[in-house]
Amino acid sequence: MKIGFIGLGIMGKPMAKNLLKAGYELVVYDIIQAAVEEVVAAGATAVGSPKEVASQVSMVITMLPNSPQVKEVVLGAGGVLEGAKQGDIIIDMSSIAPLAAKEVAAAAAVKGVEMLDAPVSGGEPKAIDGSLSIMVGGKQAIFDQCKDILLKMGKSVTLCGDIGAGNTTKLANQVIVALNIAAMSEALVLGAKAGVDPEVIYQAIRGGLAGSTVLDAKAPMVLNGNFKPGFKIDLHIKDLNNALETAKEVGVPLMLTSQVMEMMQALKVDGKGQSDHSAIVQFYEKLANFEARKK
Ligand code: NAD
Repeated sequence: MKIGFIGLGIMGKPMAKNLLKAGYELVVYDIIQAAVEEVVAAGATAVGSPKEVASQVSMVITMLPNSPQVKEVVLGAGGVLEGAKQGDIIIDMSSIAPLAAKEVAAAAAVKGVEMLDAPVSGGEPKAIDGSLSIMVGGKQAIFDQCKDILLKMGKSVTLCGDIGAGNTTKLANQVIVALNIAAMSEALVLGAKAGVDPEVIYQAIRGGLAGSTVLDAKAPMVLNGNFKPGFKIDLHIKDLNNALETAKEVGVPLMLTSQVMEMMQALKVDGKGQSDHSAIVQFYEKLANFEARKK
């Protein structure tokens, strides 16, 4: 089977490579040529626009930064819908606003094109080893058709509800991750400045109630002062913006999320928008004038 893949960044590249490894033929597009070349070297075919991708396949996967890019790639001039045929399927795996997913799906439906929103969690390491958690919104029948393909990129694939429900679930995920990183940062800076090696703190607590996937993924980065992304602060600001907007729409005050959002904004202003989100610790380190590094 031939699948289209658009958006070959930190996540899209390894996800596309896993589909190639599983034996699917891929037709790919990205605006960054180096990313395209790397996936072509692994066996994919490159074309010059999203429209050309869609005209060669019956299923297109997108893995783009945010709602505006997904709208441009799917609905814009030279976009997926210009090349798609009735009965084709778009799986948008980007993390975007739930409302935007509904808008794109409605425009696709006018052409008889089906859509799932299927954002992921797990970051680059899990994209590489094909063990992402995938949260899906859309029709049951379309989900059933696509599940095996999604399982080549993830180890858990869950239908969360109608279109948009995948991204609503992802917003909940991003709130939990952001608040966890902030809690870890606050605690490690406290412990380190109070005189205990933060590596010892991490090792002592990781098996207890404070242990978590976030702690195991991010504490080693903090302790080594390694803030290479991973998941960029700029993208997490985008997710928290989507969470805060959705919260306003449905009427849920997000007290802690709004505070962590301001921390991330401060880091962005300080030139760290392209750092990994574990750099939240640097916000605390500046306030406390102390770094939580391994001794
Ligand atoms: P990225 O910035 O590394 O990759 C995005 C890719 O999209 C880039 O290669 C870029 O050139 C391409 N692109 C942008 N506009 C385009 C256009 N108009 N046409 C074609 N290509 C275009 O981002 P990423 O980290 O791979 O994240 C992608 C999505 O996955 C985001 O929504 C992000 O929030 C989500 N996500 C990321 C992670 C992570 O750890 N990096 C984890 C889970 C989810």
